[in-house]
Amino acid sequence: MNTDHFPDNPYLLLTPGPLSTSKTVKAAMLRDWCTWDDDYNSIVQEIRKELVSLAVESVDQYTAVLMQGSGTFSVEATIGSVIPPEGKLLVLANGAYGDRIATIARYLKMKLALLDWGDTGPVNLKELDEVLTQDNQVTHIAVVHTETTTGMLNPIEGISRVVKKHGKVFILDAMSSFGGIPLDMEKLNIDFMVSSANKCIQGVPGFGFVIAKRAEMEKIQGYARSLSLDLYSQWKTMEEQNGKWRFTSATHVVRAFRQALLELQEEGGIEIRYRRYSENQKTLVGGMKELGFEPLLPDEHHSPIITTFLSPEADDFEFKRFYDELKKHGFVIYPGKVTSHECFRIGNIGEVYLDDIERLLEAIKEAKYW
Ligand SMILES: *Cc1c(COP(=O)(O)O)cnc(C)c1O
Repeated sequence: MNTDHFPDNPYLLLTPGPLSTSKTVKAAMLRDWCTWDDDYNSIVQEIRKELVSLAVESVDQYTAVLMQGSGTFSVEATIGSVIPPEGKLLVLANGAYGDRIATIARYLKMKLALLDWGDTGPVNLKELDEVLTQDNQVTHIAVVHTETTTGMLNPIEGISRVVKKHGKVFILDAMSSFGGIPLDMEKLNIDFMVSSANKCIQGVPGFGFVIAKRAEMEKIQGYARSLSLDLYSQWKTMEEQNGKWRFTSATHVVRAFRQALLELQEEGGIEIRYRRYSENQKTLVGGMKELGFEPLLPDEHHSPIITTFLSPEADDFEFKRFYDELKKHGFVIYPGKVTSHECFRIGNIGEVYLDDIERLLEAIKEAKYW
């Protein structure tokens, strides 16, 4: 059970980030740091090293860079910095975060192709293969790993095979999966992978990071369309100046993130965390079905991160009232994000354990007013 619940935190966040963190992660922020001092920069270096080792076995061929801002800033830094002026990005989308990558490319006035399967359609590998066969201008492919809009888990093994066959650069938005779902960047042929501090690593919000194949990172000098979001310059500075950021960084958040990485290790690593999340999610769905709720997606497309449930058909059901009732019971859930269905979402990542889910199910039973 999350014991850091009362009195400072009157409710547990069942949201996909910011999420509930441990007391020790929050406590790690109670000190000030100087951005150019070795004490701080060595923390940054430790973090970069640890991120690479969580992402891949061949650690020497990969590297990591941290970037200020929320996760989207790191996605935008990546899209805006890795694609050369004459390059073309193919985005695979089945939810709001996939669409957001396409929006970033439009803002940056890049050549863009979009394969969009709506909010509930799984990625179609045959279509991907066909588009890559027909459109030889495409140089880069971007896709979201777990689409937090619905909880959809995209088939990155299959996508990676097709991308590799066509020899393209592969960008993965692993925002809501990295740290919670095991993967190996080399086996999946991922060139750039983006995530952030406040999702499955269970830190607090304030920065994101990109883990990349070193050889690909070396190629992108001068492509950035933005100074502050120049991924290459940020990386080069961290690399050559022992963990230095170019501009003011979220020092307290970075320190808390190191504590979160330590706690991931103490828990037993990504595989063990994945099992906890999976057990949370299965228990949640099983219990919700008993209470008469239906998930939006079939089990086979589901991630263990967040689940979208269809709103009850009862005339007097109103999300806001349901939300307020649950909040009184100590739980905060998430509104829906798909337009085609009335629904709501419950996340199960963060400092959330099986008995928290069981308490939640009891609370939902009591909060059912319709
Ligand atoms: C959280 C998230 C992001 C980034 O969102 P921010 O609000 O900018 O942190 C991007 N992609 C996915 C899949 C996410 O879950």
